[in-house]
Amino acid sequence: MRLRSGGSWVDRQLRDRGIHDERVLAAMERVPRELFVPEASRSLAYDDAALPLSYGQTISQPYVVALICKALALTGEERVLDVGTGSGYQAAVLAELARHVHSIERIPELAERARTALEEAGYGRVDVHVGDGTLGLPDLAPFGGIAVAAAAPDVPLALWDQLAEGARIALPVGTPQLQELRVLERTSAGPRLLESVPVRFVPLLGEQGYS
Ligand code: SAH
Repeated sequence: MRLRSGGSWVDRQLRDRGIHDERVLAAMERVPRELFVPEASRSLAYDDAALPLSYGQTISQPYVVALICKALALTGEERVLDVGTGSGYQAAVLAELARHVHSIERIPELAERARTALEEAGYGRVDVHVGDGTLGLPDLAPFGGIAVAAAAPDVPLALWDQLAEGARIALPVGTPQLQELRVLERTSAGPRLLESVPVRFVPLLGEQGYS
């Protein structure tokens, strides 16, 4: 049996905190988070917290994943880019909301584990790539949404260039200590800032991130 408490964790952690997008709530309900957390933390899989992965990385708090997924306003037809695969959890939630997800991770061992977890959970719609996510995946662009799970000093230009017009990017921007989750829409007139929420993420390391 799954380790969730009757589905009400979604009400407590998400709905009661202002996430009312029913597609996102249903997606969060469906993805078995316990398959993405390290075995030692499985009993904590539905806690209201980020959890440690190996290599000093973390699987994001469910609320933050929901916030990012909601912000992208996906319809189900998009090809989405997920930067910072980590455990693969956010990629799985995005796969519930879009047609296909390309996820990119810089640590090969984490990418390999995420692939296994995604396969086990039945997410064949996610491709995990190893590389510098600050550069995106230019050969597969444009994307109908981009979700970044690590903090950058600013929006990496390469990612902005790979965003389709009318699509949105959600990413934590700021210093390694202090960040806000920015949601920007690409319009013909340039970037439109839709939302900005205080958050805390691990740093995005790479050519257009922190060195
Ligand atoms: N979305 C993940 C959260 C992982 S934490 C989840 O749901 O579990 C952020 C991840 O970003 C870490 O695994 C880290 O290794 C990765 N990362 C940091 N900089 C990166 C870069 N430039 N390219 C790809 N991945 C990066």
